[in-house]
Amino acid sequence: MECILFDLDNTLYPSRCDLFGLIDQRINSYMHEVVGIPLEQVDILRRQYWQAYGVTMQGLMRHHQVDPEDYLHYVHDVDVASRLQAEPDLRQALVSLPQSKVVFTNSSRAHTDRVLGTLGISDLFDQVFDIRVADYVPKPYLQPYHRVLEQLGLTGSQCIMVEDSVANLKPAKDLGMTTILVGNATPGSFVDRQLAEVVELPAALADWGSTGASLQRGIAPQ
Ligand SMILES: [Mg+2]
Repeated sequence: MECILFDLDNTLYPSRCDLFGLIDQRINSYMHEVVGIPLEQVDILRRQYWQAYGVTMQGLMRHHQVDPEDYLHYVHDVDVASRLQAEPDLRQALVSLPQSKVVFTNSSRAHTDRVLGTLGISDLFDQVFDIRVADYVPKPYLQPYHRVLEQLGLTGSQCIMVEDSVANLKPAKDLGMTTILVGNATPGSFVDRQLAEVVELPAALADWGSTGASLQRGIAPQ
């Protein structure tokens, strides 16, 4: 494998840090205070847009003429350092991986830079692909995966994708990537391996290398 694509939020840091809770509040206040959607409609619309388009922003762009750059700036304007801190174990784990490492996120570049900086791992990533990579079309739509592979000059089979979202791993597997689910979501058949946290990745890959690619969801072949 030549490259590991890491999702950012709830993957490079665990969901219990609840940084996303802060972004969640900013999305609600953007919809109410900036777009003018009545409070009682906010949750309903968020759910509808999320189901229909994968991210709330697409619904706001399509139905409320929201400027995506304005939205991205506003919703990611959160105090990252109040929820995250430097993680030497994470850094050590990432340093030990010989593959090229990139971030592939539905968030923004500025948010990614703040998160990586706070975790103390900015220098370990060769590239960041954010929601702009396919003109704001998010994972799990196929377009951003194709764009990322094009820009990397790699095929899916040369990549490992690490994600907390099960849905986002399906297109990765369809494109031939090795898929690693982080966290405790219920995996689909297209998930090759599940880890509680991303710091377990080097050990999992080493184990995998010694037991063969048929290793599925942590069950070693007989
Ligand atoms: Mg995520």
